[in-house]
Amino acid sequence: MAANAIPVNAPLKDIDEWDDFLTGRYQEGKSQEEFRQYDEKATPGVAEFYRLNHQYQTFDYVMAKEKEYFGLNKGIKSIWEAAEFLNTLVDDSDPDTDLTQIEHLLQTSEAIRADGHPRWFVLTGFIHDLGKVLCLWGEPQWGVVGDTFPVGCAYSDQIVFPEYFKANSDISHPVYSTKYGIYEPNCGLDKVHMSFGHDGYIYEVMKNYLPESALYMLRYHSFYAAHRHGAYRHLMNDHDVEMFEWVNKFNPYDLYSKGHTKPDFKSLKPYYDDLFAEFFPEKIAW
Ligand code: FE
Ligand code: FE
Repeated sequence: MAANAIPVNAPLKDIDEWDDFLTGRYQEGKSQEEFRQYDEKATPGVAEFYRLNHQYQTFDYVMAKEKEYFGLNKGIKSIWEAAEFLNTLVDDSDPDTDLTQIEHLLQTSEAIRADGHPRWFVLTGFIHDLGKVLCLWGEPQWGVVGDTFPVGCAYSDQIVFPEYFKANSDISHPVYSTKYGIYEPNCGLDKVHMSFGHDGYIYEVMKNYLPESALYMLRYHSFYAAHRHGAYRHLMNDHDVEMFEWVNKFNPYDLYSKGHTKPDFKSLKPYYDDLFAEFFPEKIAW
């Protein structure tokens, strides 16, 4: 593809460009204003990506995707098989990324392990982005990565690029456009449908195997409007607020563990073989 041709559904060079954007957005000492200026001018691909995301993540879209994927009918795979599958996403032509997807996962989990956290937390670091395999099943970038947010109620102005929601058909819907939409005040996030992406999907895959604290990390790690900016407290219950401490604990490892030394896959593999065997049967449904 010519360098200047941005395909409609794939404005990012690769999905890691979104992760890199997040790291820049939450760089220490950077003001909101600086992000804004940086965002639109320096990263037009990212801005276009959010434009599509905010336009097309409607309540009906989310319901259709939940129906398609939450039944876990894409076959059974071990954790390593899923990771190897995700690895096929790697873009060898990008000179900025010399790390494979598996190496990115290992950097996150190894940073958690180095800080002495429990084994389930290390495991969560490794699997948190395995939901990005959605890309390999033909889902567009804007339906796999990006900040997540509730649908079926008003979109918060705390979501990045809130102005792009003007093109979302739900903003003129009589119910979905209201503060609570289809939800009750403080109903709890478990009842709330989130925009579709790798977070909600990996939660569905993992929900029978991991402790609740891990499941919150998986399910809401891209819900920046809530865990970084305090939005949507009117839908959360006390239990959500309590469990979001885990989401906050996880977030720095997601954002800042990249770029450390390249993990030595061979020497680490036995540790992860044991870790996976502790929590999972040999293969699980995807
Ligand atoms: Fe992620
Ligand atoms: Fe991540």
